[in-house]
Amino acid sequence: MRRYSAFAIAREAARYHQGWERAWASPEPKKSYDAIIVGAGGHGLATAFYLGKNFGITNVAVIEKGWLGGGNTGRNTTIIRSNYLQDPSAAIYEKARSLYETMSQDLNYNVMFSPRGVIMLAQTHHEVRGYLRTAHANALQGVKTEFISPQRVKEIVPIINLDGPRYPVLGGLWQARGGTARHDAVAWGYARACSDMGMDILQKTEVTGIRKENGAVTGVETSRGFIGTKKLGIVVAGHSGVLADMAGFRLPIESVALQALVSEPIKPCMDCVVMANTVHGYMSQSDKGEMVIGGGADGYNNYTQRGSFHHIEETVRALVETFPMVSRLKMLRQWGGIVDMTGDRSPILSKTPVDGVFINCGWGTGGFKAIPGSGWGMAELMARGYSPLTAEFGLNRFKEGRFIDESVAAGVAH
Ligand SMILES: Cc1cc2nc3c(=O)[nH]c(=O)nc-3n(C[C@H](O)[C@H](O)[C@H](O)COP(=O)(O)OP(=O)(O)OC[C@H]3O[C@@H](n4cnc5c(N)ncnc54)[C@H](O)[C@@H]3O)c2cc1C
Repeated sequence: MRRYSAFAIAREAARYHQGWERAWASPEPKKSYDAIIVGAGGHGLATAFYLGKNFGITNVAVIEKGWLGGGNTGRNTTIIRSNYLQDPSAAIYEKARSLYETMSQDLNYNVMFSPRGVIMLAQTHHEVRGYLRTAHANALQGVKTEFISPQRVKEIVPIINLDGPRYPVLGGLWQARGGTARHDAVAWGYARACSDMGMDILQKTEVTGIRKENGAVTGVETSRGFIGTKKLGIVVAGHSGVLADMAGFRLPIESVALQALVSEPIKPCMDCVVMANTVHGYMSQSDKGEMVIGGGADGYNNYTQRGSFHHIEETVRALVETFPMVSRLKMLRQWGGIVDMTGDRSPILSKTPVDGVFINCGWGTGGFKAIPGSGWGMAELMARGYSPLTAEFGLNRFKEGRFIDESVAAGVAH
């Protein structure tokens, strides 16, 4: 594949952009692969990428029932941070954040990583204590965060209202190297790199069954026929329970729609990400000028990928308190994605009761930020059977009561 560069843009400009190659191929499925990943979201594609890059395993198919990046990866609000409480979380999220720093160069694809800083507002005394504790934990983990005063919050975000009618701002947890990236570009960049290594990305191909023999996987039934493999990675976010059912085991996961909305584009007014988890709304400004606004998860399990009126009301009410100027904005679009929630709000990256079947799920409302770290660890787990990054996130923790409680960092926040 030819590299993207300033020279390539100049060359193509001179010949009416006729010479660009397709970014990834659309092959026919082979009879079998050394490894199959189900789900061409960010986590599935990153897993395939690191299988190839770090372990030389390139006879791989990534099978996707829709279009690549069309699940939560293309629906999220793109917040990237690593200010989690527990050590295993800090390790995998910080690995991911650091990989985001060089992702555009590593993939030769501009993912528009923007380390503009993330503030999580403390609006109750309980939150102040929680974030102070997180800041201390982060210092021990080598993750750079700090608890900042309301005045400092106002300096960073001039449009904020510190004296909210219900909850005044008492401070904030600030991660200066957190930020955002372009979600589609992350999926497209990985897909292009996987295709370049000779992997097959099979879009519009639904996995409908998982075949086993003597307790080990032999392949998958798909809408394009049977495809054999001895190593299967299930990376399907909100559909994890459905795929686990096909393989014959159960997961401690609930699937819930999570919603977001976006405003009309306006002039630059806020150059960082702000999350107000008590009143429950968060906001950043996209490079196009739209205010990207996230809210809550539905209060009941479902598989709908659309928005609902009551969420607009709840989310916008929270934001108007925090940023009064929002009341003058028109909203453009609203949508939903199906997130996969675990009880301890931490992910599952694990072997399963079926030999050769691995699962990566449970990222809930906050897995976009984790994509490169998760792919790195999952690839190591699939290739070697063990990864230090994923070791604590096994399914057995639910049997053994070794929960990784991230309810402060991930219960509401994304
Ligand atoms: C509204 C919203 C806002 C969010 N905001 C943030 C945020 O700001 N920051 C953050 O870090 N995270 C955020 N998240 C969470 C984040 O989007 C997800 O954790 C992450 O994208 C999950 O990626 P994935 O690759 O695991 O799943 P997905 O991107 O959903 O990919 C899974 C893929 O599997 C495919 N699939 C399912 N079943 C089958 C089958 N039977 N056969 C073949 N393919 C199948 C699906 O079509 C899908 O494309 C948000 C999520 C939502 C919905």
